Amino acid sequence: MRYLVLCSIALLAACSERNGSATRESLSPPAAVDEQRYATADSEPHNWFATNRGPSEDHFSPLSQINESNIDSLGFAWEYDTKTRRGLEASPIVVDGVMYTSGTWGVVYAIDAATGDQIWRYDPEVPGAWARRPCCDIVNRGVAVWQGRVYVGSLDGRLIALDAVDGSEVWEVDTLIDRSRYQTSTGAPKIAGDKVIIGNAGAELGVRGYITAYDVETGELAWRFYIVPGSPDKPYEHPELEFAAKTWDPNSAWDIGGGGTVWDAMAYDAELNLLYVGTGNGSPHPVYSRSPEGGDNLFLASILAINPDTGKLVWHYQTTPGESWDYTATSQMVLTDLEIDGEPRKVLLQAPKNGFFYVLDRATGQLLSAEKYAHVNWASHIDMETGRPVFTPQADYSEEPKLIYPGQAGAHNWRPMSFNPENGLVYIPVIEWPMVFSYAPKGYVPGAWNDNNPILPDLGEGSDSDVRQRGEARMPILNLDYLVAYDPLKQEEKWRIATSAEPEQSGGVLSTAGNLVFQGDASGFLHVYSADSGAALAHINVGTGIMAAPISYSIDGQQYVAVMAGVGGAAAWVYSKGSAAYRYGNAGRVVAFKLGGGDVPLPPRVNRNQPIPEPPEVPASWETIEHGEALFHEVRCSGCHGIGSGPGIVPDLAMMTPEKHDLFDEIVLDGMLEPLGMAGFSDTLSPEDVHAIHAYVVSESRKVWQDRGESEGNDREEPVQRK
Ligand code: CA
Repeated sequence: MRYLVLCSIALLAACSERNGSATRESLSPPAAVDEQRYATADSEPHNWFATNRGPSEDHFSPLSQINESNIDSLGFAWEYDTKTRRGLEASPIVVDGVMYTSGTWGVVYAIDAATGDQIWRYDPEVPGAWARRPCCDIVNRGVAVWQGRVYVGSLDGRLIALDAVDGSEVWEVDTLIDRSRYQTSTGAPKIAGDKVIIGNAGAELGVRGYITAYDVETGELAWRFYIVPGSPDKPYEHPELEFAAKTWDPNSAWDIGGGGTVWDAMAYDAELNLLYVGTGNGSPHPVYSRSPEGGDNLFLASILAINPDTGKLVWHYQTTPGESWDYTATSQMVLTDLEIDGEPRKVLLQAPKNGFFYVLDRATGQLLSAEKYAHVNWASHIDMETGRPVFTPQADYSEEPKLIYPGQAGAHNWRPMSFNPENGLVYIPVIEWPMVFSYAPKGYVPGAWNDNNPILPDLGEGSDSDVRQRGEARMPILNLDYLVAYDPLKQEEKWRIATSAEPEQSGGVLSTAGNLVFQGDASGFLHVYSADSGAALAHINVGTGIMAAPISYSIDGQQYVAVMAGVGGAAAWVYSKGSAAYRYGNAGRVVAFKLGGGDVPLPPRVNRNQPIPEPPEVPASWETIEHGEALFHEVRCSGCHGIGSGPGIVPDLAMMTPEKHDLFDEIVLDGMLEPLGMAGFSDTLSPEDVHAIHAYVVSESRKVWQDRGESEGNDREEPVQRK
């Protein structure tokens, strides 16, 4: 069997060889990516070697068979059913006709990229209890493919090397330093020289960020680089931390970890031998409680250049000193050449969450330019002398809540952007979504939001809606997704189109040499735009919402566009009426398109008119219900579940049956449904806490049940009402 699989992959490789442009042996083993092939990725436009295709990380395809003249005939080529209902965020990799990609928990798929047939599937078998650990769904943002191996980080923090022939494990290492902390792996590993590097996520939950490099061949630990220093009571693990510690209050909230998790982008310049690392936000968020005396708090929200052989820092640039707004610098970093003031410069481009577009010299870290690519009110500009942002009074929310642009979602987050080196434009999925930031210091609570940014009550002066309304009068833009074509050289916008009236509904971006830009969205459409004008050219109904970025490749002279479809993550835990997930139930799939393809088969429609079961009476005081509501957000029930908000990635709690209500304690405290991903909270909650949460859920559910009754014209008894 193994031999047959090897044969079929080898034949695929041979096939693409005849029609491709490669210069290798005619029969190569699968996943034969090495330094030489990767460095010359542009000479193999039929392949997509890494998350953002090649070393320039531009998420651009040089293929042009699909172009403006024939885009009308783009249609369905094949689909692969991942049999999942949660978020899919990875960009697939295609090497010599075989697609490698990852889904929920870190499951890896090897797929025939011409037919969609599965070659193998690998399941890291992450225990269900881990489902409550990530901030933002059980997602995975991709694999690395290198010299016959496929590398993945499983949700529970293992780095696993698989044999590309059959998906069998070659080695596995535990990358987590403290498994009692809520750290998870969701980002793609990065290959740099003879190392494979991986970070992790979890800053909102209270962790200390770091990356670890392993020998790509053996999995032996080579070095570890911590992003934040940790308590000065203990020795610093490496010299850079002594330097970083000077930018922190010695009495910082070290028990909350400091943050700085590297959960998404890394890049590698082989010529300069520099690994670029985008670091995350502070933990807790506000510097006022994290590092009470202030300070820049290195290396939060920074771009680091590290020698991958030694793990030594070569340069660093901090985008947001004293980070307090969840402004990670974890977004994709494009490595390209730009002619600046007549000089060719090797640059690094990043559009991080804070709303400024940065152009850095990637050899030295020198800031070359930075301008706003979205609405920003926390800083007026970046001082080019110091390279530092100039804060406005609006940035400081230590005394009173403030409406701040961008909000915690960021002006651009993990969804890949695309840089077209032929026209020099970057296509950015931009989010214009402010947030009212408020501040309340609090000690570490395991498994809870440890961000110290409490959600404000809904009514009254100083509340979210109040500040938002006052703020709206001053602010021109609210709650929209845009696709922005941006000129990094001139630091100006070329065009902008609104892609969704709700924030965080638009997916990652692919641009191609066919003068095309591709982007999916939560409504389940793949949209195609003209790269130079932004004119809409095609809208293809896929039937599954899309967050991930499309990719493109070719086999036997046929160009394909492919995307992972399936919403979830931080944004889509409740399905809006206009979403594909509402209509079709979020059927996870990889969908590929080609010229001359027909309509995409749509998943069966879901019946959304189920009656709401009558919730039980749960006697509770108003104070208990209030306490339950606070806990519902604090321990992150609200991160997955809605109450009467309709279906989502997990059940709507207003739909709970009487049996489920009876078992509420067993489910929430004891973890009765752990195999389904609903872990127990006994390490975080007391039985009284769980009773309060249940009281709140019932109180809300009764409102929903009564409203539904009224809309059906039925007389129902009064629900338990809150003041
Ligand atoms: Ca964050």
